[in-house]
Amino acid sequence: MRLSKGFVAVAAAAVTVLGLSACTDSAAPESSVEVDEVADFEDGTTMARLAEAGEITIGTKFDQPLFGLDDGSDNPQGFDAEIGKLVAAKLGIPADGITWVETVSANREPFIQNGDVDLVIATYTINDARKQVVSFAGPYYQAGQDLLVLEGNPDGIEGAEDLAGKAVCTVSGSTSEANVAEYTDDIIATDTYSNCLEPLRTGAVAAVTTDNVILAGLADQNEGEFEVVGAPFTEEPYGIGLALDDTDFRMFINDTLQDAEDDGTWDELWEKTAGKVLDTPTPPTIDRY
Ligand code: GLU
Repeated sequence: MRLSKGFVAVAAAAVTVLGLSACTDSAAPESSVEVDEVADFEDGTTMARLAEAGEITIGTKFDQPLFGLDDGSDNPQGFDAEIGKLVAAKLGIPADGITWVETVSANREPFIQNGDVDLVIATYTINDARKQVVSFAGPYYQAGQDLLVLEGNPDGIEGAEDLAGKAVCTVSGSTSEANVAEYTDDIIATDTYSNCLEPLRTGAVAAVTTDNVILAGLADQNEGEFEVVGAPFTEEPYGIGLALDDTDFRMFINDTLQDAEDDGTWDELWEKTAGKVLDTPTPPTIDRY
């Protein structure tokens, strides 16, 4: 198989989309990476099908600052959105060839299984249960589950052990929901993490729990209202979800991620999104299972 050579990057023919904002509508989707104009994929592969169509459908979060936040224009911004544009660009698909679909935590596997989306890039933890029904490229980032409390931490919650007997808000179908059950029985599970903010404000819950980077984005978005406890108690390697058994596509995306890590693109994409609030980490090792 010639997976790593699956596309031919012709530098001279590449279209640099970066920097065109001055002459395009500022709301128009843009890629931060060069879009490969010439792509030569093996017939029958998902890469060939998508490159030929010039279109890809990607599921992501629409309410998570830093990773995927949409302002109503179906053009989400954040690190996950940038990773999606990177993969699309390597298929020769510019940012305006991406159809973004909002995925909440609980519908990520069904959306992939039903073929509603080609990929899910949505703060999506790779784990064995999910790998029974979908595949994952990556990981391209590693988060950890943490807690969000009111500014000043009025209940003195220093870590997950302090949750016993306390009400906590999280999201259905997430690893956060499963993991926190070890520490409290009083779990309010909703569709999106942004739905958890009002219960935290009113005191209906003592904390919101999910990945530290999601919580950091929500705290940053609502300055002065909340704080992240800063005691992560799980490991959450983020993967790109795709159809089970599409090994060629998975390896193509793994190659794309590896190249981006090696040539500095990964850092650039991080720094212009999540890196505005978070330090730049070393990406985790890609798992080519
Ligand atoms: N990364 C965790 C998960 O995939 C929690 C964040 C989320 O729900 O998106 O379940």
